[in-house]
Amino acid sequence: MSERLIVLTGPSGVGKGTLLTCLRRRHKDLYVSVSSTTRTPRAGEVEGRDYYFVSPEEFERLIEAGALLEWAQYVGQYYGTPRAPVEARLAEGKPVVLEIEVQGAYQIKNNFPAAMLVFIAPPSFEVLAQRLRDRSTDDSAAIERRLTRAREELESAREFDYRVVNEDLETAVQQIEQIIFREEPLDSTDR
Ligand code: 5GP
Repeated sequence: MSERLIVLTGPSGVGKGTLLTCLRRRHKDLYVSVSSTTRTPRAGEVEGRDYYFVSPEEFERLIEAGALLEWAQYVGQYYGTPRAPVEARLAEGKPVVLEIEVQGAYQIKNNFPAAMLVFIAPPSFEVLAQRLRDRSTDDSAAIERRLTRAREELESAREFDYRVVNEDLETAVQQIEQIIFREEPLDSTDR
């Protein structure tokens, strides 16, 4: 059986977090990885639940120690997936979901060819821009940097295994469920 490693990727503001919250509610056995980051916590974010908030020095130490499964710099901050908890769940045969940006998704694909990569796309760039501005969790300079990065990320959508447009939340969740939970294809020896 292929490893059940599922990667949700796509630009900031596309709704990856909301989709994950819905998936989690419906599938209690899904393990969603908690990333480490050097960015400062937003109001309401909780250490160990939303992220592990670390200093740049600590993050670089994690890189050096090989403690991250993947990592990337995103608009001036580090983000990475702690290796040990993910490997432990996969070893138990449990499904693991990573919610990460595009560079990290490529690293996972290189290291885990059996991983399922799902690119979440907005209905249009304008909708994405509006969502990011409405979210008002970042200042306007940070929003513009995220939008610049989003344009680049949208260019790479076609390189991913699956693409889901997050226009209607329920439809998008169902599409992701179909991707994640569809029957394993028979391998050639079973035919
Ligand atoms: P935010 O600052 O909005 O929480 O996250 C910014 C971007 O970093 C989002 O696209 C999010 O998916 C991504 N991200 C979060 N955790 C990780 C991680 O561990 N690795 C990578 N490569 N990206 C991450």
